[in-house]
Amino acid sequence: MKVVVLGAGISGHTAAAFLKKKLGKNHDVIVVSPSKYYQWLPSNIWVGVGKMKPDQLRFDQYKVYNRWGIDFRQAKATAIHPEGATGSHTAFVDIEYTSVDKKGETDRVEYDYLVNATGPKLNFEVTESMGPGKNTVSVCSYDHAAHAWEELKKSIEKMKKGEKQRFLIGTGHPMGTCQGAAF
Ligand SMILES: Cc1cc2nc3c(=O)[nH]c(=O)nc-3n(C[C@H](O)[C@H](O)[C@H](O)COP(=O)(O)OP(=O)(O)OC[C@H]3O[C@@H](n4cnc5c(N)ncnc54)[C@H](O)[C@@H]3O)c2cc1C
Repeated sequence: MKVVVLGAGISGHTAAAFLKKKLGKNHDVIVVSPSKYYQWLPSNIWVGVGKMKPDQLRFDQYKVYNRWGIDFRQAKATAIHPEGATGSHTAFVDIEYTSVDKKGETDRVEYDYLVNATGPKLNFEVTESMGPGKNTVSVCSYDHAAHAWEELKKSIEKMKKGEKQRFLIGTGHPMGTCQGAAF
């Protein structure tokens, strides 16, 4: 049997770990996720205020999945075909590799069972003027959080020089961000 897990976030990583443990060597577990890193998202709040570095909350998934016997593909799923295609009823997922060595290459991964754990879609555009690169910073991913810290440092420098700074802390449109707590 072949189980494909899309996404290696909190839910996908947990699902893959338990599936492999319960199914053992006779069944395949394949994880498809676009980043080579697993990140512990809640700790991004500490990156955003300069208390942690991104490397302290992420690890290289290849090493862990190799040890566990899980086939890890650094790629994003682009389409799910639960009824297969013409000439075959085997369900499959189209993937596009994001790793440096295979970037842009596409593949087809067949499955018996599929776990879709791709998480929220960050869609800052839903709220006009919001989003990194516009008027707000975010802690929804470690690169966003590292950027938030860079911007906060600039404000701290200004305050040290006696310049007043105003901070607005909140969360975006429910369809727009990861809806982490407003820190
Ligand atoms: C700053 C912050 C603090 C938080 N604090 C808490 C807390 O204290 N307590 C709490 O319960 N929750 C907290 N949360 C929320 C929690 O982190 C999320 O609910 C959780 O990460 C959701 O898990 P997930 O696996 O569904 O999605 P994610 O963790 O977002 O994982 C999704 C995965 O899917 C991958 N993916 C995306 N698109 C594709 C694709 N096309 N193909 C393949 N893979 C794809 C992503 O790269 C990622 O690996 C916090 C969130 C943030 C941002």
